[in-house]
Amino acid sequence: MPDVIYDYSKCKGSGECVTVCPVTILEAVEGKRKLCKPIDDKVENKEAVEAYKSKVANSDKPVPIKIHNNMPECLACMACVASCPEQAMEVKPDFESGQKAVE
Ligand code: SF4
Repeated sequence: MPDVIYDYSKCKGSGECVTVCPVTILEAVEGKRKLCKPIDDKVENKEAVEAYKSKVANSDKPVPIKIHNNMPECLACMACVASCPEQAMEVKPDFESGQKAVE
């Protein structure tokens, strides 16, 4: 199952990944700052959703963490990775069981 990783020390919310994803499982959000993220109900490991909300969403500055999102619908096509102007994304085709949601 693909692991879609966002690096929030780099993401600036350009939304390029959202535009190119063929299965529309990503979104751009505006809170204290603009960011991109997976759509919550498309993420299987709920600790990743919680990590986004508790560690990233309420910060007005870049946060030095990566969040791993276990996404069953992801095709691992890498379009999002190629489109990101900040190199803030990574996709691993196989999410390893027991892997931490945050690094
Ligand atoms: S790898 Fe492809 S399917 Fe998966 S999130 Fe990125 S653009 Fe979407």
